[in-house]
Amino acid sequence: MDVFQVAIDGPVGAGKSTIARLTAARTGFTYIDTGAMYRAVALYALRNGADPAVCGEETVDAMLGGILISLETTGDGQKVFLNGEDVTGLIRGPEATRGSSAAAVYPSVRAMVTARAREIAADGNVIMDGRDIGTAVLPDAKLKVYLDAAVGIRAERRYKELVEKGGSPDFETLVNEIKQRDYNDTHRAADPLRRAEDAVDIDVGGMNAEEVVETILSLIKERGGC
Ligand code: C5P
Repeated sequence: MDVFQVAIDGPVGAGKSTIARLTAARTGFTYIDTGAMYRAVALYALRNGADPAVCGEETVDAMLGGILISLETTGDGQKVFLNGEDVTGLIRGPEATRGSSAAAVYPSVRAMVTARAREIAADGNVIMDGRDIGTAVLPDAKLKVYLDAAVGIRAERRYKELVEKGGSPDFETLVNEIKQRDYNDTHRAADPLRRAEDAVDIDVGGMNAEEVVETILSLIKERGGC
């Protein structure tokens, strides 16, 4: 079967998950959120007494055999299962968020998530988002998109999201967290965040989600995806 794969990469807070989910809903493609998979690994490690930000790769590596991650698309978005348990909400907590960024540095963790993401993607049309999809996970994707915006704009979006969820975040703390995660993502040795040479750049700064989705849908059509 001739499959159409869409790779969406970009830094934290560029709106990748929202855009990938909406585009998947409009095309019927399967959405695969690889960030959620790193978060599930971090949650498992934390629950088993190994904070990826503190423990070395060997400790986290020894746990990988005990982890099975599955994804399920529902009317409300994507559910993430860790060894059969629905951890969709739990992986969004601050510890799993910090832990995922630390765990993602370890090559053994990256190899495990990459293999599982490819397995889920096998044989179907997919939209996968992350940091290394166009460069490492799906290097032959028919469409690669790199979403980006200035740190301040990304922090503002994150701020609004958290306020809408009833939180009272500190803006400066958010900016610093985003900068730290950008640094971790771009400076790690294994599959750092960078745009694939054949990726289409979209500066999402002045665009709303609908405009970004429409842009990607046109690119998919242009390349024969639907
Ligand atoms: O996208 P999200 O914030 O959910 O990703 C969680 C963490 O997983 C990120 O901070 C990033 O370090 C890591 N990640 C990665 N490669 C991917 C997806 C996510 O390194 N393909």
